[in-house]
Amino acid sequence: MLYGGIEAGGTKFICAVADEKLHIIKKISIPTTSPKTTFEQVFKFFDQYPIDALGIGSFGPIGIQPNQKNYGHILTTPKEGWSGVDFLGEMEQRYNVPIAWTTDVNAAAFGEVKRGAAKGKRSCIYLTIGTGIGGGIVVNDEIFQGLSHPEMGHLYIKRDPDDIYQGSCPYHRDCLEGLAAGPSLEARTGIKGEKLSLNHPIWNLQANYLAQALMSYTLILAPEVIVLGGGVMNQDHLLKKIRHQFTTLMADYMETPRIEDYIVPWGLANESGVIGTLLLAQKEFKR
Ligand code: ADP
Ligand code: ZN
Repeated sequence: MLYGGIEAGGTKFICAVADEKLHIIKKISIPTTSPKTTFEQVFKFFDQYPIDALGIGSFGPIGIQPNQKNYGHILTTPKEGWSGVDFLGEMEQRYNVPIAWTTDVNAAAFGEVKRGAAKGKRSCIYLTIGTGIGGGIVVNDEIFQGLSHPEMGHLYIKRDPDDIYQGSCPYHRDCLEGLAAGPSLEARTGIKGEKLSLNHPIWNLQANYLAQALMSYTLILAPEVIVLGGGVMNQDHLLKKIRHQFTTLMADYMETPRIEDYIVPWGLANESGVIGTLLLAQKEFKR
């Protein structure tokens, strides 16, 4: 029994094959270029293995309603050449196996619930803070989706009055993603996030914006745990600052678990997504 998983990001596609116990046998990273070239590489990899099911977690937005024409497609995206691509269709044509289809962050949320920092929880929010900000929700072992998949990175937050940065979201400018995703760190300071000193004041602003968002998610969904991942969360001190600001902002309004158990770092660092897609492949196969 072999499961395949694709975590499809805007910069790279991570493809993996795992055995029935979900031990990864082989994993590769393919740069996201044109759809044609990227898919050729994906096929070249999976053609080597007789997979029994496939899980895909794709960058979005994506069509998730099975009864709609755009199901399985990547919708309008700033990523050159990818708008309208029938991702799921391409895979279905090549591999005649059950295929699970969701967003990259939903897959990561699923991975974290099954194998990571949210293991054993019935409800979890996973938020990635990287090139963009995006989140996924799992409730009772199912990925939550409604009309579409949630777009938790684009909510509005209260701006710091001293913050003059216009924001970088191409749609809303100063939504959370526009104000607090990785690129905003460099846009504000001229220094890449990775290189910023630990005592730079920007980290307090960053923590404040993220804490505001986590407060909103908490008030709306009251999950059992919030898992944070993505490149920016490699800054360990940031987690502490977010927890502190969250506690202050919440002002004891709502009872949440001990903060160290409530806002937690990813348990499957850099692998939540790909492991999630393998778990979803397994789930689809068993269905
Ligand atoms: P992606 O979101 O493209 O999948 P990442 O999650 O690695 O990739 O996020 C990349 C973004 O995170 C970039 O904006 C980068 O500058 C920022 N970043 C990566 N590592 C760090 C770090 N250690 N500290 C702060 N920012 C970082
Ligand atoms: Zn936005």
